[in-house]
Amino acid sequence: MRIIRTIKIDTDKCTGCRACELACAGFHAEPKYSTINPKRSRIRVQRDEQNKLFVPVKAGPYTEAECSGRNILVIKGKEYGECSFCRSACPARDLFKEPDSGLPLKCDMCGEPAPEEPLCVKWCLPGALTFHKRVEENGPVLPAEAEYADEVEEL
Ligand code: SF4
Ligand code: SF4
Repeated sequence: MRIIRTIKIDTDKCTGCRACELACAGFHAEPKYSTINPKRSRIRVQRDEQNKLFVPVKAGPYTEAECSGRNILVIKGKEYGECSFCRSACPARDLFKEPDSGLPLKCDMCGEPAPEEPLCVKWCLPGALTFHKRVEENGPVLPAEAEYADEVEEL
């Protein structure tokens, strides 16, 4: 058996308020809550105010090499940059890098012991982020699943 923890993101409900960034950044400061620097956050909100599009992106795995093939996304008629919604800390950009050390950041679902509800979810008052937990019967955790699912905990 294993528990899979996931955060569901509903961009239609996201107002771009960035409370999620602040909660995560404060929690991961050293000491905790001593500073609030959004660059330390494991969730960043990509904002297009003109089109009222706000997309929270949670930091995923680190990649050592930048992509050679990229995607261009068109949403409601507007074209978005190739790396706009990517989750990776990557050598090609500064996103998801610890501002002091430059080390890559990855969402840790708020560390150990895991909170009942991740902090970004707790402080997302518009309800754009919701936390889901499910128990699955045995079966191997595929490498891709282990890397990209938010949290997989073997029981
Ligand atoms: S789940 Fe926790 S660590 Fe991950 S982005 Fe949200 S606040 Fe940050
Ligand atoms: S706290 Fe919620 S509504 Fe505000 S920017 Fe983050 S995801 Fe969007």
